[in-house]
Amino acid sequence: MQDTHADTIAAISTAVSESGIGIIRLSGPCAIAAADLLFRSPGGKKKLKDAATHTIHYGSVCDPEGREIDEVLVSVMRAPRTYTAEDTVEINCHGGVLAMKKVLDAVLHCEEYQTENREVIRRPDAVQAENGEVIRVRAAQPGEFTKRAFLNGRIDLSRAEAVMDLIEAKNEFALRNSVSQVKGSLFRKIQDLREEILYQIAHIEASLDDPENLDFAPHLESFDWKLSEWRKQLLHLIRTAEDGRLAAEGIRTVIVGKPNAGKSSLLNLFLGEDRAIVTEIAGTTRDLLTETIHLQGITLLVTDTAGIHETDDTVEKIGVQRAEQSVRDADLLLWIVDSSVPLDENDTRIASLLYGRRSVILLNKSDLAEKTGEEEVRKLLEGLQNSPVPDTGSSQKADLSVQARQPHDAGQSDSVILPISAKEGYGYHDLVQVLKDLFFHGKLSWNDEVVITNARHKALLEQALDSLERTKASLDAGMSEDFFSIDLMSAYESLGSIIGEEVGEDLVNEIFDRFCMGK
Ligand code: GDP
Repeated sequence: MQDTHADTIAAISTAVSESGIGIIRLSGPCAIAAADLLFRSPGGKKKLKDAATHTIHYGSVCDPEGREIDEVLVSVMRAPRTYTAEDTVEINCHGGVLAMKKVLDAVLHCEEYQTENREVIRRPDAVQAENGEVIRVRAAQPGEFTKRAFLNGRIDLSRAEAVMDLIEAKNEFALRNSVSQVKGSLFRKIQDLREEILYQIAHIEASLDDPENLDFAPHLESFDWKLSEWRKQLLHLIRTAEDGRLAAEGIRTVIVGKPNAGKSSLLNLFLGEDRAIVTEIAGTTRDLLTETIHLQGITLLVTDTAGIHETDDTVEKIGVQRAEQSVRDADLLLWIVDSSVPLDENDTRIASLLYGRRSVILLNKSDLAEKTGEEEVRKLLEGLQNSPVPDTGSSQKADLSVQARQPHDAGQSDSVILPISAKEGYGYHDLVQVLKDLFFHGKLSWNDEVVITNARHKALLEQALDSLERTKASLDAGMSEDFFSIDLMSAYESLGSIIGEEVGEDLVNEIFDRFCMGK
């Protein structure tokens, strides 16, 4: 890995927009010396190099001729108790874009001096007395401060990634979850598991080295028990990834229903404004419309689909095909039934799309006389469940995330059916409550539960689980112990990658490149 101690870096760490204050952060061995080149205290005597750590100093940032660039407050924080674990200086300047850029520019050229005839030469005081090295600061790469925190061992990779999630959090749930991960909740879970696995590997290896004195055979039963405990823990974490993704990115929700059932009206109800076109002519919503909706801590990505029905119109046909594709990709289907008319073959077709999917059924137009009620809908679903359904493309891969969802997906007979009126707004609050319950099962805790929101973490947890499954298979097949330790080791390494113990430089760079500037 690169030598992070060589360079001193700087960047604007606050948003580059008009704001009350802006912060230019410097980190690295020259941070304090560089700031000293630019800083002038009111009396002109104070030097930041003499300042105690974690102190704040009032003064100005000046160019080499002593002209003030901005009035500032400078924080001096010495290694190792800083964000990067290196010497860090934060210059609080005025928040105007120009002021921040000028201060940053002064920092990045702190060792230079422009003479009267515009020649750029090095400042004599930019050479450090102790080692003769020139004080230099370069612009930081995106995420480089956090990367240094990781490379200097102050935080693990899961925490560094949580910092990024925190910046990008789209709702309160995602925010709280990333704060808990920044504090190290995932790190501790992974570390505990790794320690236990490593202990078993050591035990097995020792018994292989010295079979006469250290026989592993008497420990096979407790080893089997431990394996099953670890697998349970991993499976639990992997399962949270489904809720985690849904919470962080939004639940892909598709509104389905025959033409005129009230799909657009429902979307408008969610949005609180007339965004989708609502008309009385069947088949007007020809294209897909996706909107992000924040509902009390959860985010829905709601797609209104063209009415799924038989049609000869070419444009409508494309709309119907797109609707069916989005149904296949959805996390949740909202089937809106027009309760003011009897069920027909369009409803049967839609009901069959719902098979095996998480769904909520809405009996819309409950303000009108009822022609279709809960009973009719349940009968239709039960009829479909008892007869094989044609392949609608909704059959799902048997991957772990889907297995984790099975309890919610088992058929449709237990789907929630709610009466609503999209036009009058009736039943809306019940719907919101049902959606929240569905995804957080009413028990997802914000306090101690670690929720996996990062796809990289999830993939590594699945790899670790696979390795443990292989260990279990070897154990059940009565294989020799050296087989166990190979697979246990790969589980140990997969878990290590989550916290950055076993990762290469390429991956580290890739992760930190996704950060924003100045973090
Ligand atoms: P879509 O084709 O499924 O998107 O249906 P729209 O949302 O365009 O609604 C079709 C028609 O039904 C419009 O005239 C709506 O005003 C009407 N409509 C929708 N929801 C309700 C409701 O809850 N009650 C009543 N009475 N009319 C509704």
